[in-house]
Amino acid sequence: MSRFPFLLALLLVWTLAGEGVRAEMVCTDCRQPIEGTFIRWGQQAFHPQHFACAGCARPIAGNYVPHQGKPYHAACYAERFGERCAQCDRPISGKFMKHEGQAYHPACFQANVAPRCDVCDAGILGRYLVDPMGNRYHAEHRIPLCTYCRRAVSPKTSQGGYTYGDGRSVCGMCYPQVIRSDREVAAAIEEVRAKLETWGLSVPQTAAPLKLVDLNRLKQLMRRGGLHGQNIQGFTSVLSETQGGQVTKREIAVYVLNGMPREDFMGTVAHELTHVWINLNATKKLHPTLEEGACNYVRSLLHAQSGTPDAARNLSSMKDDPDEHYGRGYRRAKAYADRNGLPALLTLMRRGSAFPLGY
Ligand SMILES: [Zn+2]
Ligand SMILES: [Zn+2]
Ligand SMILES: [Zn+2]
Ligand SMILES: [Zn+2]
Ligand SMILES: [Zn+2]
Ligand SMILES: [Zn+2]
Repeated sequence: MSRFPFLLALLLVWTLAGEGVRAEMVCTDCRQPIEGTFIRWGQQAFHPQHFACAGCARPIAGNYVPHQGKPYHAACYAERFGERCAQCDRPISGKFMKHEGQAYHPACFQANVAPRCDVCDAGILGRYLVDPMGNRYHAEHRIPLCTYCRRAVSPKTSQGGYTYGDGRSVCGMCYPQVIRSDREVAAAIEEVRAKLETWGLSVPQTAAPLKLVDLNRLKQLMRRGGLHGQNIQGFTSVLSETQGGQVTKREIAVYVLNGMPREDFMGTVAHELTHVWINLNATKKLHPTLEEGACNYVRSLLHAQSGTPDAARNLSSMKDDPDEHYGRGYRRAKAYADRNGLPALLTLMRRGSAFPLGY
């Protein structure tokens, strides 16, 4: 919002100091002698009632705008020479909006030119937010973003949505993808297990029970395991009993977040089952960059094969993830597998403990 830099001059009213001192002074307008108060305009003098606006010819009492040697009421000046609103064509005085070289009354701009809010459809004048899908909306709406696709959740931007008891928001476009029934869950897990098998990561069904939990329970389990993180979707817990340095008993359990869209669920299962595979096959403790990176790389293979928009979203968030282990580790695992092949990456996970130099 700006303000026109109107040059407003203040009317100066003079009073003759004494009788006869300037008796020769006459009003430029009526040619009659001036007595008492008068208005000085350059070399000219006027009776106050004869000092008139060059626009409307009515007397000026108060502020005026000088323009090419003539005085104007501010409104008359705006009418004749001032900027006009590109929307209603009426003159603008006072506050206005400038947009693409044109000036607008703020109300005209908001009603006709301003970008529309994708949530309430009114014009946006002030601060606004943009979700990753390009939806623009007033900052004051305070609506949540979908935990999965990051869309602003509202009837217009996401076909509504839901909020889970653990605080997650799922938009109306992701919600139909959420797998809920035990049968769907079991089938999806089996599908991931079969995929991992074809890539050389065999994880027997009996190796680890897989449980679905909400976000509060998942965070609690992770805290108990001394772990924490953002955007948690799954957790693999390993309890080992050792005697004399030998592992005598190992209990592995996989916890996966419930209520996720199918692609996110399957990706999480692929990631966690890779942890199980590592626990069953690795001879050394893996550095977290290698372990989380490799788990995410296996996850990426699943997303790459499924090719859905949700899969593309998952892949791009891993590609851009700044996290040392989940993001950078993933990119190092991918570079390693791209150059040496997946079997070589599996061998590294079985025998090594970290990425070799150069990765
Ligand atoms: Zn006069
Ligand atoms: Zn006027
Ligand atoms: Zn206007
Ligand atoms: Zn709005
Ligand atoms: Zn969504
Ligand atoms: Zn992990």
